[in-house]
Amino acid sequence: MDDFLSEPGPRKAVPQKQLQIAILGTGMGGLCMAIQLRRAGIDSFVILEKEADIGGTWRDNVYPGSGCDVPSHLYSFSFEPKLDWSRKFALQPEILDYMQHVTRKYGLRPFIRFNTEVEEARFDEAAGLWRIRTKAGDEITANVVVSGTGQLNRPFYPTLQGVENFAGKAFHSARWDKSVDLAGKNVAVIGNGASAIQFVPEIAPKAKKLSIFQRSANWIVPKADRPYTEREKEMFRRFPFLVKLHRLQIYLMLELNYLAFVRGSFFGKLFEKAGTNAMEEHVKDAELRKKLTPDYPAGCKRILLSNDWFPTMARKNVAVETNHIAKVTSDAIVTEDGVSHPTDVIIYATGFEATHLLAPMKIVGRNNLDLNTVWAHGAEAHRGIAVAGFPNFFMLYGPNTNLGHNSIIFMIECQVNYIMQCLEALKSPKVRYIDVKKSAEDEYNRDLQADMQKTVWAAGCSSWYKTADGKVTNNWSSFTMKYWWQMRHPDFGEYAVVG
Ligand code: NAP
Repeated sequence: MDDFLSEPGPRKAVPQKQLQIAILGTGMGGLCMAIQLRRAGIDSFVILEKEADIGGTWRDNVYPGSGCDVPSHLYSFSFEPKLDWSRKFALQPEILDYMQHVTRKYGLRPFIRFNTEVEEARFDEAAGLWRIRTKAGDEITANVVVSGTGQLNRPFYPTLQGVENFAGKAFHSARWDKSVDLAGKNVAVIGNGASAIQFVPEIAPKAKKLSIFQRSANWIVPKADRPYTEREKEMFRRFPFLVKLHRLQIYLMLELNYLAFVRGSFFGKLFEKAGTNAMEEHVKDAELRKKLTPDYPAGCKRILLSNDWFPTMARKNVAVETNHIAKVTSDAIVTEDGVSHPTDVIIYATGFEATHLLAPMKIVGRNNLDLNTVWAHGAEAHRGIAVAGFPNFFMLYGPNTNLGHNSIIFMIECQVNYIMQCLEALKSPKVRYIDVKKSAEDEYNRDLQADMQKTVWAAGCSSWYKTADGKVTNNWSSFTMKYWWQMRHPDFGEYAVVG
């Protein structure tokens, strides 16, 4: 092993080799990576997409009311501002439209292989290549793999006794079945997280009865949403720098929200006060209020934004069921108190397999190292993007890069910027691969987990941010500025650079 990249003296001009790059997925991460390659004049890449169209989570989550709880001017690429977002928090169709727009603008479609699901990626050390096997049995080789599959792409279905006997319709919020008419039906919604709070207010007026099977209450605060006025949009069109200013203002405000995630912080109490006030304004029934009041600090689970959740909870045809589900029969959900709740439709709003990143893909690195084995006690990575033993393999929105307070697009852009610099190094004909050193990865994660202890995520509540053992594998522990600072340039001293 040689440390080519830190050779002293002036750099000699050497012919660069052409890298083959495989990007997995066409969500925000995969698209961002592909766009930056195009902008850098690199065309030797392919994007493998398991579905028939682009969009990732924004293609999949088409439930009524689906939208983003991060303001749109920040939930978009910094290099591709959209001047005419219709409202502060755009809904899913407008976000997907934006993604289609960037796909068209940067001519990405010819690079995408649709309906191509990756089953396995295996590193061939001698050749310095990744051999990617698709479900259809094809093999694709690449010097570099960038996974853009993120944390939230595989729906989680709970194991419910007797569910196979259920005669009605059942579907997951991320696989919404538009053919099911909910009008006049007894609808059971299992879960009350970020997805449920968006679609429940939309479907409640249609249902005969809507029962929410709630395991834990959530902190829900008002959403400062409204359409942009025509005048505002006109100003943004005429003076695009105003959009930049607006974006910066949103970024700084959200960045401040991080303080709410520090254990016992005053800011956290402010969120709790805002949530309690909103509930007290709309929910008059003391028993229902008790059910809707969380028993853990704000932020431990995602803080939810909604203006219509509490009014919906107060509707006569809506019930919040806090007894746990015992079993499902052909036409009802039976709770542990023995009560049978007649049910025509079950909607799983139970989230995603978030802690099993990259599964069910099999990623095999040097010396037959299987990523699932390495991650048996929870995913971790160096700076959220690289794992020792898996050379030239990068992740976007990987372990410990999720946020509770700011835009994930910001994190993705930091990661893509970092990976672009790694690619630059890999172009040298002297370099076959770079592999993060285990010592660097371990040190980084020790520091990160120590930093995590000051946050509410490490506090008592359970959430998709952590494994059953309590290790926080999903969230970044600090301000996004700190991540940005760390990700400005790769430190190749942290990598084994192999020629
Ligand atoms: P989620 O927040 O993980 O919520 C899942 C819900 O299902 C929780 O209420 C959970 O209860 C419940 N649940 C899970 N297993 C259960 C079981 N066996 N029995 C009963 N209830 C069960 O999932 P999500 O609402 O789909 O949201 C996931 C993430 O997607 C969000 O945190 C967010 O990052 C992202 N998202 C973002 C937006 C946005 O606007 N940006 C919108 C939607 C989703 P417990 O709380 O007790 O575990």
